[in-house]
Order: sequence, then structure tokens, then C-alpha cells
Amino acid sequence: MKDLAATLAGFPRERLTRLPTPLHSLPTLGAQLGVDLWIKRDDLTDLALGGDKPRKLEYEIAAARAAGADTLVTCGSAQSNHARLTAAAARQRGLHCTVILSDDEWRAIQGNLLTVFLFGAEVVIVEAEDHWDLEQYALDRCAEIDAAGGRAHYIPVSGTTPLSCLGYVGAGLEIADQFTEYELSPAAVYAPFGTGGVFTGTLLALRERGIDCPVIGISVNRDQKTCEANLDHWWAALCQLLARSPVPRREPYELHDGYVGRHYGDPTEATLDAILTMGEAEGLLLDPVYSGKMTAGFLDHCAGGRWINSGKTIVLIHTGGVPALFAYHEVIEDHLRARGRLADLPKLRN
Ligand SMILES: *Cc1c(COP(=O)(O)O)cnc(C)c1O
Repeated sequence: MKDLAATLAGFPRERLTRLPTPLHSLPTLGAQLGVDLWIKRDDLTDLALGGDKPRKLEYEIAAARAAGADTLVTCGSAQSNHARLTAAAARQRGLHCTVILSDDEWRAIQGNLLTVFLFGAEVVIVEAEDHWDLEQYALDRCAEIDAAGGRAHYIPVSGTTPLSCLGYVGAGLEIADQFTEYELSPAAVYAPFGTGGVFTGTLLALRERGIDCPVIGISVNRDQKTCEANLDHWWAALCQLLARSPVPRREPYELHDGYVGRHYGDPTEATLDAILTMGEAEGLLLDPVYSGKMTAGFLDHCAGGRWINSGKTIVLIHTGGVPALFAYHEVIEDHLRARGRLADLPKLRN
């Protein structure tokens, strides 16, 4: 079987960011917890405030180009990072972009939603229970674009396709190289789990490089069973795309659904506390939807005694999302007040 990196290099890709992103330690928070804590900074990819999506879009845009597309069409929540980064990537590559967004409670012209307007994307806001159900609207818009003489390329929610998962295979190989460079043998790697694209690609690459620690996914929306089914789906598709035979062993991994809160994007107390903990210890921003939830999961595992004072090496994958913080400013203000961080400041908002 061909080496994974060599196989990966055979897929067309349009560069959207410099790589590798940094892997660095979090010495202050690590010392507080008694662990050797590191973070992979995929929030620092180059495109429009960064995140995981540039790695995914590098492969999707190459596919769109090969199909002769002139317009990227995608969907997401009102504060979709994916919408921001798809719109930015389209503009940078001379393509049009349409984003179908759900009319949810975070639809202030702030954060990610502000940026899609600045990129001149066509923005369609749709009443939908769940932004994971917007696919049909997006496919209908693709048909209209094609009927009007354009050529649409549809990218699903969260940008996840077998092809885009290759971006996280690349990230996993990069992480494995950085483990070698810094002589790390991690006891666990944590990642947020949305559709599972980031998780699946990273897991496959780490396994192929012989890194056999638990890879721990913290769900941001679905229950454990659904996450497991999504992992099965992307794992099979990715192993087929990359001609992995025999398929590598997937275990040990964990998928936790206890940190979602009421629904996707719910800024739970634990998430807001994690954002505050990371900010105060490390001067590092997390987001309320993905990296904040992942860190809440990690901190809860520490509080339960799992890693605390073990001195073990733990790696968090920061996938970005920080612009959404600004759309959540009211709930964050309330949280800061509840935690005594605003002291006697009068209400700042009117
Ligand atoms: C889209 C996104 C993810 C994606 O995770 P998947 O499991 O691949 O869907 C993770 N983090 C952030 C900040 C994102 O915007």
C-alpha cells in the first residue's frame, strides 16, 4: 500500500493557507492542571480570520474548478464559520458565492454573518428548525444558478465531503510530524466533533503514523450514536478514497455528547467558563460553538480526575470559530458579571 502522504499528494488542491500551523504548549493552564498541555493552532490558517475550513476547501475548490464551476453554494447557521470561509475562498479564487443560512437566535450582523456581507456573497436567510436541514434549499439554488447559465458547485454543511476530509488527513500528518519534532508522546488528542470531518481525517492520519493514543471527540450537536454513525460513514469513504487496504485500526477513540447543552451553538456555562479559563490563563481566544465546548469537555475530564496532576501530554486541536464570540457578546457579558469579572461596572449595553 502506498504511503499515506504520497497518496494524499496525488489529489489536486488549491492552496488557501500557509502550512503547517503551529503546535505549541499552554504552560500556564498546563501547570494549573498538572498536565503537559499543547494546542494545535488551526485557528491560525491564513484565510479571513482562520479556522479548519481552509484545509477542507483547498480540495473542494480544486474539484469545483475541475467541474468548471463559477459559483460555490453552501449552507450553515447564521454564525457559520464555514459560510465566512467559503465566501472568502470564493472571492480569493475569482468565484461567486451563495450562502443559505438559518434564521436562528445568533443572526446579529456581527461576527461571521457580518463577514459574508463584506465578501459580497449572495445571502439567503431561511426559516429552519435546524441548519443541518438546509441542504434542499442549497440544491434548489444550485439548480436555479445552472438554469440561468451559471455553474454551481455545492459544498455541504460544515464543508464535509470525502474529498475535503483530505484536508484533515494532511493536518493529522502535520501533527504527527510535530510530535516527532517536539518529542511528544501524547496520552490523548482532543478535537471538536460536528459532522466528523476534522475528527475522521485526523484520526486516520495519526493511526497511519502509529500514534495509538485515544483521540477524543467532543460533540457540538449530535448524540453519541449519531456521531459514531457519522464516523463510520466518513471513515469508510476516506479509506476508500485513499485506497487504504487493509483499513487501519480505529480504536482507541471516544465520542462524548455530554457537552452540547440544549442544541448546536448553545453557550453552556461550562463552555463560557472554558473560554474564560483559557483567556485568563493563556491570553488565547476560544469560540462558544466548537473550541470552547471541546475545552469544556477536556476541563471536565480533568475535574473528574482523569488527567489532573498526571503530568501526561494532552493535545487540543483548536479549529477556530472565534469571530462568533462577538455575536454572543450579550450572553458573555452576563457570564462575566455572574463570575464577578465586571465588578462594579454598570450595564455596558443599552
Ligand atoms: C466547521 C467547524 C468545525 C468542523 O467540524 P466537523 O466535525 O468537521 O464538522 C470545527 N470547528 C470549527 C470552529 C468549525 O467552524
